[in-house]
Amino acid sequence: MASSSVYAEALKRLDLAAEHTTAAPEIVEKLRHPKRTLEVSIPVRMDDGSLRVFTGFRCRHDDTRGPGKGGIRFHPDVSADEVRALAFWMTFKCATVGIPYGGGKGGIIVDPRRLSQTELERLSRGYVRALGDAIGPETDVPAPDVYTNAQIMAWMMDEYSTMHGAPCPAVITGKPVPLGGSLGRDDATGRGGYYILKELERVRGLKPGSSTVAIHGFGNAGQHFARLAAADGYRVVAAGDSRGAIHDPAGLDVEALTDHKESGKPVSDFKGTKITNDQLLELDVDVLVPAALENAITERNAPNIKARVSIELANGPTTAAGDEILAKSKCLVIPDILANAGGVTVSYFEWVQNKAGYYWKLEEVHTRLREIMSREFNAIYALKEAKGIPMRTATYTHALNRLGEAHGALGTRNLFAKKGS
Ligand code: GLU
Repeated sequence: MASSSVYAEALKRLDLAAEHTTAAPEIVEKLRHPKRTLEVSIPVRMDDGSLRVFTGFRCRHDDTRGPGKGGIRFHPDVSADEVRALAFWMTFKCATVGIPYGGGKGGIIVDPRRLSQTELERLSRGYVRALGDAIGPETDVPAPDVYTNAQIMAWMMDEYSTMHGAPCPAVITGKPVPLGGSLGRDDATGRGGYYILKELERVRGLKPGSSTVAIHGFGNAGQHFARLAAADGYRVVAAGDSRGAIHDPAGLDVEALTDHKESGKPVSDFKGTKITNDQLLELDVDVLVPAALENAITERNAPNIKARVSIELANGPTTAAGDEILAKSKCLVIPDILANAGGVTVSYFEWVQNKAGYYWKLEEVHTRLREIMSREFNAIYALKEAKGIPMRTATYTHALNRLGEAHGALGTRNLFAKKGS
C-alpha cells in the first residue's frame, strides 16, 4: 500500500506490539489482512428530481472474537483505505476493552450537511439495502460515527427490519431510546474518556480545580467530555471545530458553547480569543483532547505539544511519526482504541439489552462502563510500566494478547506441525 495509506499507517502500530505480544506470529500476520471490504453504489432520488449515485463501503476486518462491530461514517473524504483502517482499529478497540466483538466499519462518500432530511433518509435506507446480508445482529453490527447519528441509525434499523420482515433492533446500535437504544449511549464516548481522566488523576497528578483542558474537535465526543470535565472542576480553556478555535484562559462556559455550536454557529464565533486549530494543539495545558479526525498530530507539530496527557477521543488523530516524537516527550498519550472505547462499550450494552429484551437503568450503564474503562486502563498502565513501553504499544499488546488467545484457541502451528518439523 502507498505510504499515504491510513491502513498502512495503522499496521505500524501492530508491528510495534508484535515485539511484545504472546500472540503467535502467524496470528499477527492474519490480522494484517482485513477479512473483506464491500463497495456499493447507492442511487438516490434527490429532491429536485435528479438521480445521484453515491459510493459506500463496509469492511469487516476480523470476526474471531465475535460479530464485526463499528460505526458508519458520512464524509466527503471516506475511502476504502480509510474504512479498512477504521475497521482494523475497531478489532483492536473491542479486544482492548474485552467485549465480544471483532472489528467493522462503514462509510459513504458524502457531505451530509448538503442533503435535505428526505435525501438523507433515502441515502441511509439505500445503503442498508445495498449492503444486504453484509450486516446483521450476528454478523456485523453498525453504529454512528463521524456525521451520523441516532436518527440515521433509526432509518437504517427500520430498513433492515423491513427487509427481514420483523423488528430487528440488535442489527445496529446508537439508536434512539424509544426504538431500542440504550440509555447512556449518547454521551458514552466522552464519558469513557472522562473515566480515563479520573484514573489519570492518580497516576499523573491531575486535579479538578486546577488542571486545564483543550478540546480539538467540539463534536459529540468532545462536547460531552468537556461537559463532564467542566462539571467536575476542570478548566476547559480552549475548543475548536473545523472552522477554527477559541481560547479563554479563565475557562469557557461549556454549556453555553455547546448551545452556540448546536445552533449551527462556528465555535470560533464564541467569546474569547480566536486561535487556529494548530495553536490549540500546541497550548500549554494539562490535558489535550484530540477529538476531530485522523492525522491532527504529525511529526510537524508533535515537537511543539506541551500537554501532559493526550486523551484521543478521535480515531487515529496521531500519525506513527508524530507518536514516536510524543513517546520521547513528557506527554502521556492515551490511545484512541482505549480512550474512545466508551462508545462501543455502551453499544455492546445496547446490543445485549436488545437481545435480552430487557432494558437497564442509566446508573447501571454508567457503573458497568466505569468498571470496564478503569479495569482495562489499569491493566494496560501496569503493562506499560512493566515493559517500559509507550501507552499505545502497551494497549496494542494488551489487545493483541487477547486476539492471540481467541485465534490461538483454533490452533496454531504448535498444534498442527508434525513432531520434529
Ligand atoms: N464509531 C464509534 C467508534 O469508532 C462507535 C462504534 C460502535 O459503537 O460500534 O468507536
